Amino acid sequence: MNFDLDNLVRPNIQALEPYSCARDEFKGMEAHVFLDANENPYNDPVNRYPDPLQEKLKARLAPIKQVRPSQIFLGNGSDEAIDLVYRIFCRPGQDNVVAIAPTYGMYRVCADINDVEYRSVPLSEDWMFDPKALLAATDANTKVIWICSPNNPTGNDFPREAIHEVLTSFCGIVVIDEAYSDFSTNQPFRTLLDSYPNLIVLNTFSKAWASAAIRLGMAFASEDIIALFNKVKYPYNVNLLTQEKALALLEDSVTVEGWLAQIRRERSHMLPALSELPIVEKVFPTDANFVLVRVSDANRIYRYLIEQGIVVRNRHRVQLCDNCLRITVGTRQENNELLGALRFFKTNS
Ligand SMILES: *Cc1c(COP(=O)(O)O)cnc(C)c1O
Repeated sequence: MNFDLDNLVRPNIQALEPYSCARDEFKGMEAHVFLDANENPYNDPVNRYPDPLQEKLKARLAPIKQVRPSQIFLGNGSDEAIDLVYRIFCRPGQDNVVAIAPTYGMYRVCADINDVEYRSVPLSEDWMFDPKALLAATDANTKVIWICSPNNPTGNDFPREAIHEVLTSFCGIVVIDEAYSDFSTNQPFRTLLDSYPNLIVLNTFSKAWASAAIRLGMAFASEDIIALFNKVKYPYNVNLLTQEKALALLEDSVTVEGWLAQIRRERSHMLPALSELPIVEKVFPTDANFVLVRVSDANRIYRYLIEQGIVVRNRHRVQLCDNCLRITVGTRQENNELLGALRFFKTNS
């Protein structure tokens, strides 16, 4: 494999002179009077622009994620990182990306917004991909391959060897979205950044870290790729409140570990209970905090659950997901309410 980052980047991004913000210029100097950014001197602390590179937060995150601070990009949810991948690497109307199907919907939405061709390669019946098929879908203008593992909405992790083969055979960017890796027992790929110069790994505060509302996503990659993210992102893309909330959460990893253990326990309680329901045709194996379930009539059961005040995700119209519902693992009480309603549906129909 011949990976050449300079050659992959869009020429306009390569040539870009990024916006230099006031907080960049004074960085490293001691100062106590700030008259450089047209801020209002009152209403401390939200009167000041936040750290554009979130250095304190990255320093705390690095040991937890087993990466260097310079290998971290933080954004307004993973969705910002997904969009930036297109804006950095894909020339509109010219380049394309390859992804598995079914998978997370934002990869396609961002491709459409950026006018980039999206090529999807269907998974097999047991939700596996063939690395050769993914590679066969690429051509000279393929800049990115998207792999979500554990995959949304199917729930399964992909075998390491299959991902490794894509990473070592494709000379473009490979993004592995590990939004759900904390729920899996497999080793995450983000600890292998130094072995794969073309790897970008996505993580989020929205799932295992229970902070979807603060909108904080992470991308891990080589220093060279992170430098491109920093060049293209909005200068103050992560606000102060979010940075502070995230720092507080990182001080309390015991609580987060407790939530994770509880969700794993609930998951192992849910799977057999769902399997026993007569309306359930298949419970797909999961390494995430949700489970994909094939039922007798997804649309009817979905509407019935809504009437009971219970919302699940109807994936019936998604490719290969006929009659499938995606169910998030909740609290014991929420899960029991769902199971009770589904048992009643059987006796009622
Ligand atoms: C939920 C989810 C995310 C998280 O997105 P945020 O913008 O960080 O909330 C990312 N990838 C996948 C596959 C997801 O399911």
